[in-house]
Amino acid sequence: ERMAGLDEAAVRRLDRDHVFHSWSAQALIDPLPIARAEGSYFWDHAGKRYLDFSSQLVNINIGYQHPKVVAAIQEQAARLATIQPAFANDARSEAARLIAEVAPEGLDRVFFTNGGAEANENAIRMARLHTGRHKVLATYRSYHGATAGSITLTGDPRRWPSEPGQPGIVHFWGPYTYRSAFHSETEEQERERALAHLRDTLMVEGPHTVAAIILETVVGTNGILVPPEGYLQGVRAICDEFGIMLIADEVMAGFGRCGEWFAVDHWGVVPDLITFAKGVNSGYVPLGGVIISDPIADTFQERAYPGGLTYSGHPLACASAVASITAFHEEGIVDHARRLGADVIGPRLREIAAKHASVGDVRGLGVFWAVELVTNRETRDPLVPFNAAGDAAKPMAAFAAACKERGLWPFTHFNRTHVVPPCTTTAEEAEEGLAILDEALDVADTFTH
Ligand code: PLP
Repeated sequence: ERMAGLDEAAVRRLDRDHVFHSWSAQALIDPLPIARAEGSYFWDHAGKRYLDFSSQLVNINIGYQHPKVVAAIQEQAARLATIQPAFANDARSEAARLIAEVAPEGLDRVFFTNGGAEANENAIRMARLHTGRHKVLATYRSYHGATAGSITLTGDPRRWPSEPGQPGIVHFWGPYTYRSAFHSETEEQERERALAHLRDTLMVEGPHTVAAIILETVVGTNGILVPPEGYLQGVRAICDEFGIMLIADEVMAGFGRCGEWFAVDHWGVVPDLITFAKGVNSGYVPLGGVIISDPIADTFQERAYPGGLTYSGHPLACASAVASITAFHEEGIVDHARRLGADVIGPRLREIAAKHASVGDVRGLGVFWAVELVTNRETRDPLVPFNAAGDAAKPMAAFAAACKERGLWPFTHFNRTHVVPPCTTTAEEAEEGLAILDEALDVADTFTH
């Protein structure tokens, strides 16, 4: 009652006085108070509606306030709100079964965490103990979370303030045809050169010292980099050759985002470990985890696994995952996401790209798309520099403001806007948002030459 009674001014004032925000200079931000949300939309206190093309932090895969997920949390809270991980619990058992059921063959067990960073921490711990090796290879264009190990795995600039970080983590270049690190001009060249580069990296690191290669199946925040056909199969083969564990970070790409249960399904690749969070229950209650292949699980049959969390497999989180995965099945949400990308978002973005001088590249699948903005399509110079902030980032800020003015909440990162709506977004809603994006790109076009 007290909370419902807070007006917008009070929410803002208490936020400014007492809430310390992530990734921000505290005095330079002005967080927008949100009053409610439903489906693909949220509303501010003034009643202004936003169509969410960012799915919050690319995690509201099932949309806001899905009635079955909300009801499952309410029922679970009334029955058993919490129980520690050493007990067995029906919600946890069922969530693990449903996750293993949609995971690739041979990954049958789930270690639950509260989110993606902890999932990656535990995945690299499992890989190290299973192989008896120490090193982990990760890509430069990546984000894996903000805890000590996960931020060291991260390749993007969010790693810099935490350096030197955890020892034994080595970065390499993944494929990115539009801005190739290998001077490739085709997807085939990019695949071959990226695989040769990985092989070279392993040669000089010593493959027998490498426990795992971790990569985002489709790189998320760092550009929606869809790997060329054959790349992931190639990485799988290299891992098999050298006894290295393949960890697929599917925290962002999994649970429908790529129009598949897991993005690896798109290429038929089976990793040794899959990390997930976000879309598993759309963050209605914090949840993440590691899906473990049978050989790695076997390592810890007679030997204790040295890791745990007070809230591992929390009943409220697991009950919401059960309801969410069940709704995904019942409502055909994964297929819907695949078709929305293939029939609506992809074609419409390509039309938009043809119209706007600022659009350098469009790429993606499912409800996971990037529009890369440039000052010049020939030179491909980015609309704002890598890691731009403040004045240097103004062209992107102007584009984002133009979207928000028109009732669209965009996702922006460096010189890109990502089209990452909920998997449940209707074709009409997607069209509505893409029309706004089209208009807002006129603003980006004014920065081209
Ligand atoms: N891995 C990927 C690919 C992510 O996108 C994220 C978050 O954006 C994480 C890991 C970290 O997840 P969390 O913020 O739940 O710790």
